[in-house]
Amino acid sequence: MSELRKDPVTGRWVIISTDRRKRPTDFRRESVHIPPENSSCPFCPGHEHMTQHEILAHRPHGSHANTPGWDLRVVPNQFPVLRVEGNLDRHGEGLFDKMAGIGAHEVIIETPRHDQTMATMGDAAVEQVLWAFRERVRDLKNDRRFRYIIIFKNHGGAAGASLEHSHSQLIALPIVPREVKDEVDGARTHYTFKERCVFCDIIRQETDDEKRMIAETGDMVAISPYAPRFPFETWILPKRHQAHYEDASRPEYASLARLLGDILRRMNKVLQNPPYNLLIHSAPLSEPAGDFYHWHVEIIPKLTKVAGFEWATGFYLNPTSPEEAAAVLRDARG
Ligand SMILES: [Zn+2]
Ligand SMILES: [Zn+2]
Ligand SMILES: [Zn+2]
Repeated sequence: MSELRKDPVTGRWVIISTDRRKRPTDFRRESVHIPPENSSCPFCPGHEHMTQHEILAHRPHGSHANTPGWDLRVVPNQFPVLRVEGNLDRHGEGLFDKMAGIGAHEVIIETPRHDQTMATMGDAAVEQVLWAFRERVRDLKNDRRFRYIIIFKNHGGAAGASLEHSHSQLIALPIVPREVKDEVDGARTHYTFKERCVFCDIIRQETDDEKRMIAETGDMVAISPYAPRFPFETWILPKRHQAHYEDASRPEYASLARLLGDILRRMNKVLQNPPYNLLIHSAPLSEPAGDFYHWHVEIIPKLTKVAGFEWATGFYLNPTSPEEAAAVLRDARG
């Protein structure tokens, strides 16, 4: 039997199609394997001239900018989807709206080691990446043209990564993207009726229920959401209510680093180093969403293809129930 389930935040429906039930070993595997080195990699130490000038870097021994000796670098994207220079003039052609392609597009090079990943680099290095995200968001927030900053990661070619060296991306946008708007609107509606944050309610229910709990650390929980679009979709949420990622505390970043590494190692074990996308959803920059929105991380292993049905309906067809995904990930200690 299939089951239709509704996401309590966005109201989006998914079909958990247990008739087509897939176990972790049933997915066609496109495992990610990164060779120890690549002499033409622009993100490796010694190749700093292949990127634009760094915006931020952690250099524990005080080496010069744009030279080796760093643990982490943030550089402008070589092929930005949006550019920083210019004015935001919104105009249109009658019915149609358009505006100049203003934004910022940065790359966070997470480690100097070509073959390390977020699963292998260690908690302290992951924590440093999380701090770099925070620092960049806090800086870009000062630019009043930006309404939203999305942080995401494509791991593996099948998930859209064009370079294998571990990195994340940040894009500052002059608009709030629709996926975020849907979550914010849904959370606002829930708050209007119940005077509670829907994400806090989810954490409470999942913690009591345990069926979809994967793991937790002092400040964070990892769950399989009730109505996941994709098999093994995993959310990590801070236990403390907070709308903006960049307002988290030092222990929360440490806790997130630990849980993130743990979840990625579990996925590597169960799904044989899958390609994945990771993203951070945080409240829009100017939105007074403090009471009802709750920042979180979503991790989506790339195991299925989105096809005609999904495009046509916005319904997602998921062959693995979140209860099964959670059970498998719970048992798989990395
Ligand atoms: Zn490299
Ligand atoms: Zn909350
Ligand atoms: Zn989200």
